[in-house]
Amino acid sequence: MNFNELALIPELLKALEDEGYVTPSTIQEQAIPPLLEGRDLLGCAQTGTGKTAAFALPILQYLQQHPLSSKGKKPIRALILTPTRELAIQINESFKAYGKYLNLKSCVIFGGVSQGPQVSELARGVDVLIATPGRLNDLIQQGYIELGKVEKFVLDEADRMLDMGFINDVKKIQAKTPPNKQTLLFSATMPAEIIDFVNRILIDPVKITVAPVSSTVDNIKQSVYFVDRGNKLPLMINILKDEDIISLLVFTRTKHGADRVVRELNKNRITALAIHGNKSQNARQTALESFKSGEVRVLVATDIAARGIDIDKLSHVINYELPNIPETYVHRIGRTGRAGLSGVAISFCDFDEKEYLDDIEKLIKKTLDKVEDNPFPMVIFEKTVKVPQTRRPRSERGSSVQGKSFANNNGERRGAPTKPQEDKKTGAKPKAYGKPYGNRVAKNASRANAKFNTAKKSHSDR
Ligand code: AMP
Repeated sequence: MNFNELALIPELLKALEDEGYVTPSTIQEQAIPPLLEGRDLLGCAQTGTGKTAAFALPILQYLQQHPLSSKGKKPIRALILTPTRELAIQINESFKAYGKYLNLKSCVIFGGVSQGPQVSELARGVDVLIATPGRLNDLIQQGYIELGKVEKFVLDEADRMLDMGFINDVKKIQAKTPPNKQTLLFSATMPAEIIDFVNRILIDPVKITVAPVSSTVDNIKQSVYFVDRGNKLPLMINILKDEDIISLLVFTRTKHGADRVVRELNKNRITALAIHGNKSQNARQTALESFKSGEVRVLVATDIAARGIDIDKLSHVINYELPNIPETYVHRIGRTGRAGLSGVAISFCDFDEKEYLDDIEKLIKKTLDKVEDNPFPMVIFEKTVKVPQTRRPRSERGSSVQGKSFANNNGERRGAPTKPQEDKKTGAKPKAYGKPYGNRVAKNASRANAKFNTAKKSHSDR
């Protein structure tokens, strides 16, 4: 099947083509037709299955085909609730990408940041609102948001919202939407409270279940280097001395990160180009073609820009920065090892990314092989285990952008530091200040501790 067979309007088909999507995923194939007919939906599907496009495309198509005649400020016509800020941002980016040829406006709101800019954006009017429940409820209570005109309502990752204690917020929000809307609920598991809620809010829903993307293909060799952030570039340059690496796709979390890596590689006479959201479609296309033809050896991409990229015979992927959504790891490394060929996926994990690695390993049910022959072993980590973080359930953890945030999505503090511990993964012992690193290590250690304290302080100042 291809997207043309799904009765989608040309503006959406063109956007999908730009994204590089060729065939619909299982959930898209099964969900789009009944959603276009206006049916409610109960989806047992996780992030990574293509579920965002499965709900975003029919919503965008409906809004485009049923414009409101009234003048004045746009009412919110589609509301997407999702548990974390990362997912909210990602969903908004998807709406923007798929809706780029439509004159519709989407906006994302989440907690843990100042509400001012979000309120201003809402005041200008939005068609589609993507929100985490806590912040949405706050803004409703303050009178900034009115949900009386919602026609499409999506509850994404309902079980995680339940785990995170958002269920009462969700119920309150749901009660503010009109009864005759179309409702979609996605949940990977169906605990009793969700079943109860489903029975109350969905009317004769289509039920779709798709397998999670939790397994990584066996023909991909996966390994991890524990390395300090500042040593990632030299490490990559060292790895690239291996001439067997003919084409390498590198993933960074940010656009600036991608540009920086390219600059440094070029300085070291390694041909590299970046593709990310700040590059024009043309520039991205040219970069991709140069990479595919072998003219450029390294392509550095952000996750959003790498969507739909299909490169035959890609042998190596490096996760220069680990993704904060574990399913993204499975997608990234799935770019290699295609068509039965073997592939190599190397991850760099710095001190601040250890939790991301734990989440990934939990998802794929595998421990990545630690590379022992590492010219840049993690010095800061091994020598400064005085600042371990108490682990909390994954669902309660927030994003840690370069380790700056110690808060979850509600702006709550993460667990306070506890006594020094041996690190299970690296086997690093606390109090290991000694030769051959001497004072340098002690300095690094105190710098790392100072950084931790600053992060703590800046958070408590919020
Ligand atoms: P999601 O489950 O919605 O988070 O999507 C997971 C990833 O798959 C995202 O990077 C999407 O851009 C990508 N994706 C979704 N649908 C397709 C498709 N039909 N073809 C190629 N990539 C897709």
